[in-house]
Amino acid sequence: MTTAKWVLVTGASRGLGRAIARALAAAGYHVVCNYKSGEAHARALVEAITAAGGQAEALAFDVADAAACASAAEALQARLGTPWGVVNNAGITRDGLMVFMREQDWHDVLRTNLDSFFHVTKPFLKAMLMARQGRIVNITSTAGQVGTAGQVNYAAAKAGLIGATMSLAKEVAKRGLTVNAVAPGFIDSDMTKDLPKEQLIPAIPAGRFGKPEEVAGLVRFLLSDEASYINGQVLGVNGGLA
Ligand code: NAP
Repeated sequence: MTTAKWVLVTGASRGLGRAIARALAAAGYHVVCNYKSGEAHARALVEAITAAGGQAEALAFDVADAAACASAAEALQARLGTPWGVVNNAGITRDGLMVFMREQDWHDVLRTNLDSFFHVTKPFLKAMLMARQGRIVNITSTAGQVGTAGQVNYAAAKAGLIGATMSLAKEVAKRGLTVNAVAPGFIDSDMTKDLPKEQLIPAIPAGRFGKPEEVAGLVRFLLSDEASYINGQVLGVNGGLA
């Protein structure tokens, strides 16, 4: 069993998850870096964290697969004990106007962005409640707060995640757990690399996309002792967009 507090970050092989994993490792946590298919990226991340003196490991499982999440959680808890934190970050988009949206694109996005919260968090919850401490952070989106044309599936999943965050916070607050959501606006990553930046930037008061590190700093704070009375909140990281 590791002596450092450990944290699971889903979707840590790239983008926001990678920056969150780096920030948490730098803060002294042992970080379990989940991914689905990006093994090389996940390995490179773990090597970079280790080279910088931190502790991390890579772990593949599909957050949309309930059984895979349950068995990963069981193995992790047997080896590392109860987690200090769970960061539900893994997500996908399958954008398109609803009039043309395929049923599969609706379900894939709901499964990966919303069902995953339940699949990943539930297996840890009992032990975290018994430990009377811990942090759950869910990465939602501005789309889930104000909607985006072409993202009916994604906005529905992210809005659902906000409702789940606020509700679970009310269930667990007395036991010392906090559950918060972070809602990024437009952040540079693979997810946003094909968006028409020049058309979107004029609508962003900050005049630019954000960096993954600008989201990671808030997640690190929410996992810290200083954030112990912040609960059930949705915190935007959007350059003033919403
Ligand atoms: P990204 O660059 O596309 O990276 C997505 C990450 O999620 C990858 O590590 C990927 O792993 C992982 N992933 C995807 N499906 C998975 C699954 N079924 N099981 C396990 N891991 C899975 O995306 P990002 O921009 O960093 O987004 C991260 C989160 O922030 C998402 O929830 C997204 O909705 C949210 N967000 C992003 C933005 C933005 O502007 N970028 C804005 C608001 C919210 P593999 O490498 O193995 O595929």
